Amino acid sequence: MNILFASSEAHPLIKTGGLADVSGSLPRAILNQHQDIRLIIPAYRQVLKQGNRVELAAYLDLPGVDEPVRILCGRLPGSKVVLYLVDSPAHFDREGNPYTMDDGDPWPDNALRFSVFCRAVHAIAVDAAGLGWRADIVHCNDWQTGLVPPMLAETPHSPASIFTIHNLAYQGLFDWDTFESLGLPLHWWSMEALEFHDQFSFIKGGLVFSDWLTTVSPTYAREIRTRTYGYGLEGLLNHRMDTLTGILNGVDYTVWNPGGDPHIPVPYNRRSLFHKAENKRALLERFGLPVKDAVPLFAIISRLVGQKGIDLVLEILPMLLQQGAQLVVLGSGDKLLEAALRKARTQNPESIGLHIGYDEPLAHHIEAGADVFLMPSRFEPCGLNQIYSLRYGTVPVVRRTGGLADTVVDTTAETLADKTATGFCFDTPAAPALWEAVERALHHYRAPERWQHLIETGMRQDFSWRRSAEHYIELYERVLTQRQPVTRQATTL
Ligand code: ADP
Repeated sequence: MNILFASSEAHPLIKTGGLADVSGSLPRAILNQHQDIRLIIPAYRQVLKQGNRVELAAYLDLPGVDEPVRILCGRLPGSKVVLYLVDSPAHFDREGNPYTMDDGDPWPDNALRFSVFCRAVHAIAVDAAGLGWRADIVHCNDWQTGLVPPMLAETPHSPASIFTIHNLAYQGLFDWDTFESLGLPLHWWSMEALEFHDQFSFIKGGLVFSDWLTTVSPTYAREIRTRTYGYGLEGLLNHRMDTLTGILNGVDYTVWNPGGDPHIPVPYNRRSLFHKAENKRALLERFGLPVKDAVPLFAIISRLVGQKGIDLVLEILPMLLQQGAQLVVLGSGDKLLEAALRKARTQNPESIGLHIGYDEPLAHHIEAGADVFLMPSRFEPCGLNQIYSLRYGTVPVVRRTGGLADTVVDTTAETLADKTATGFCFDTPAAPALWEAVERALHHYRAPERWQHLIETGMRQDFSWRRSAEHYIELYERVLTQRQPVTRQATTL
């Protein structure tokens, strides 16, 4: 099959979160299973600056864009996956985050930027760019690609589309004036199409018009069909429940492997776990914290946003520190959360290490050096850090939601007995419930043999991409087989 995989970020080219990890590794896993999958992302300045070899493959004249858009072609670094970059300097050649300005507010022209990206994806998918390659399936990811399925639906004999929800909280909502300014078909402004409570919703394009919907864990696939997690889209998602599948994300164990990780001081595996202690010592030194081997080191690596439950950690912090524990935090985002963490660090310089910012090598070192990983998310479509933690022997404490529920096995008398326990889970998104789970973790930490068992069971878990990639390929085949030939009126996009 020819598959065009469209995403707004892909590791190692550009990354703000888990979507990049998925887009950088799933296409590789699918290519390994002998499918012709190609990745397309915007040519952000940060991507072009890396100096990877690319060639000019095509020029595209797109409505509403003054300059012809260049399509650059290369390979996703470290792989054979063909990579297309949508090079429209007015929209993507700028410093900083792909979605937000320095102050954290979205770029004011995001709707235009990602509509340009969607038009380019559509053009390449239907071979209107003259590349001599046409997609059978376009695999879209998150709201930034949400206009592609409706564009395909307007095109006769178009490729099929799959839309993956990585996080329903981000929907790409804009006003009517913005919608009108983009020159999109006016009949899309309807409840049955892209209009959502008087706003223009990118994500609805994917939710309504794709042939199949997926999300990144089975539990999240069920949760988003409820009022609590559905953001008002639960009705639509229930309507589509027969074409909505949860496929758990995999992780790339060539990047996240303590046995061969260039970012950690001392590599280790299940049989050389004693080296983990050396990584812990180095990590504490890196953060300027006193080295205390027998004290549990908790860690957080996260975007600092409400979703992640960092406020719950702040609430339990006094109790955690009273138990003598240490904490290291790597993250950035919400300025209030950043300030609260800074204050906590200033007040507890011996116990808390903090790095506000984005630092990939440090993230690896933290996974290797910490004892316990905290992920008390209010919702978590899949979550990757808890899976990395398992492989690094860093026991996760998670809220039982989304992919966290699907990847971490709570420690109970039964799961200890049948040797399936890998972490600690709690249900209520509130500080007392988190504290109860942390207390259980502390209790088990003080029993080194039991702790060792937990670590070893976690390190044995296999969440590699192979199985998930097979699942996606089966789905692509199913969609192509089941697709009803539809004749729709072609519209100029
Ligand atoms: P989300 O996509 O919601 O941010 P995930 O757990 O799915 O959450 O993925 C987060 C990814 O981003 C992980 O690879 C994690 O290591 C990385 N990450 C998050 N914040 C930082 C940071 N400040 N520095 C380095 N890596 C980070």
